[in-house]
Amino acid sequence: MSNDILFLAEFSGGAPARSALELATGAAELASQSGGSAVALAYGSGAASGAGALGAHGAARAIVLGDEDRPAITFAPAAIAAVRDAGLAVLAPATPNGRDLAAALVGSLDLPAFGPVRAVRVVDGAVESEQATLQGSVITTARPADGAPSPSVVLVLANTFTPAEGGSGTAEVTQTGDAAESALAKATVAESHEAEAKVVNLEEATVIVAGGRGVGGEEGFGPLRDLAEALGGAVGASRAAADAGWIPYQLQIGQTGKVVKPSLYIGAGISGAIQHRVGMQTAEHVVAINRDPDAPIGEFADLFVVGDLFEIIPALTDEIRRRKGA
Ligand SMILES: Cc1cc2nc3c(=O)[nH]c(=O)nc-3n(C[C@H](O)[C@H](O)[C@H](O)COP(=O)(O)OP(=O)(O)OC[C@H]3O[C@@H](n4cnc5c(N)ncnc54)[C@H](O)[C@@H]3O)c2cc1C
Repeated sequence: MSNDILFLAEFSGGAPARSALELATGAAELASQSGGSAVALAYGSGAASGAGALGAHGAARAIVLGDEDRPAITFAPAAIAAVRDAGLAVLAPATPNGRDLAAALVGSLDLPAFGPVRAVRVVDGAVESEQATLQGSVITTARPADGAPSPSVVLVLANTFTPAEGGSGTAEVTQTGDAAESALAKATVAESHEAEAKVVNLEEATVIVAGGRGVGGEEGFGPLRDLAEALGGAVGASRAAADAGWIPYQLQIGQTGKVVKPSLYIGAGISGAIQHRVGMQTAEHVVAINRDPDAPIGEFADLFVVGDLFEIIPALTDEIRRRKGA
């Protein structure tokens, strides 16, 4: 059994998903701790031509499970064949597709499973991971029991690793063929198109405008949506706003919500509680708008604007639209 760290690398529309680049970086980091190599399990349209480039993010090798545009679960037979008796761990993104494939690996090969995790490392030759439980109030560190089969399958939350280019440049690519005859691999996508109301993935957004209790109600998010649209970004929220039912829980940022990493985070009517901060503190630039000059968010914001969000946000939106010539 090798000390390799494998990772699921999803491709679509000819390009790798952000999760593939995050996990390539993470797998390379863990492989340097385990003394093995980072190995991509690439699937989806563009995987065959794009897998080699994962080398720039740290993958030493890439195994192409399939290059077609088809449901992720249909790559399970090829993934199972590639993972059998291979390596120390398989990192899977904690996305619906990643969870499907991880479950197939764990169920078929009877492997130990962990996650979703926010931190993972190699300690004494085993993969150790940290998971938040009980609504984030308890952090559990887990590792496979002595004698447990390898590899461990670890579901990794978005933004646990930051994609970094530092690898050799090109991963050595091999194709799998042995699982292509499986009935599961025969399903195809007949047609796909973007939904009318396009949902911006908060975890991948480069600009986020987040609202909190200070927004005052569901309709109070209107000006924030306008600003987000003008900036080409997404709307997020504090738990207070999600708990109040003003915005869906999927948009909650923080310890018990999403961990985001935009280049610009604008927090309006958010006090900056520690449980919110842990979800957005890795934003490159933090702008806070709050009418309380002593709000804690002012202590870690790059720009702290003291004032009423209902005056500042629309003025900001108008100015951005004016500069864009809209
Ligand atoms: C186990 C646990 C897990 C948690 N997980 C999360 C989590 O994942 N995410 C999260 O966000 N919270 C989480 N919380 C809750 C967290 O502790 C805070 O209660 C919450 O973040 C507060 O939300 P808020 O900042 O919107 O509200 P508040 O703290 O009430 O702040 C509202 C702010 O709006 C300002 N304001 C009001 N009106 C205006 C206006 N017109 N213009 C400008 N500013 C205005 C006020 O000055 C104030 O600073 C968790 C708590 C616990 C115990």
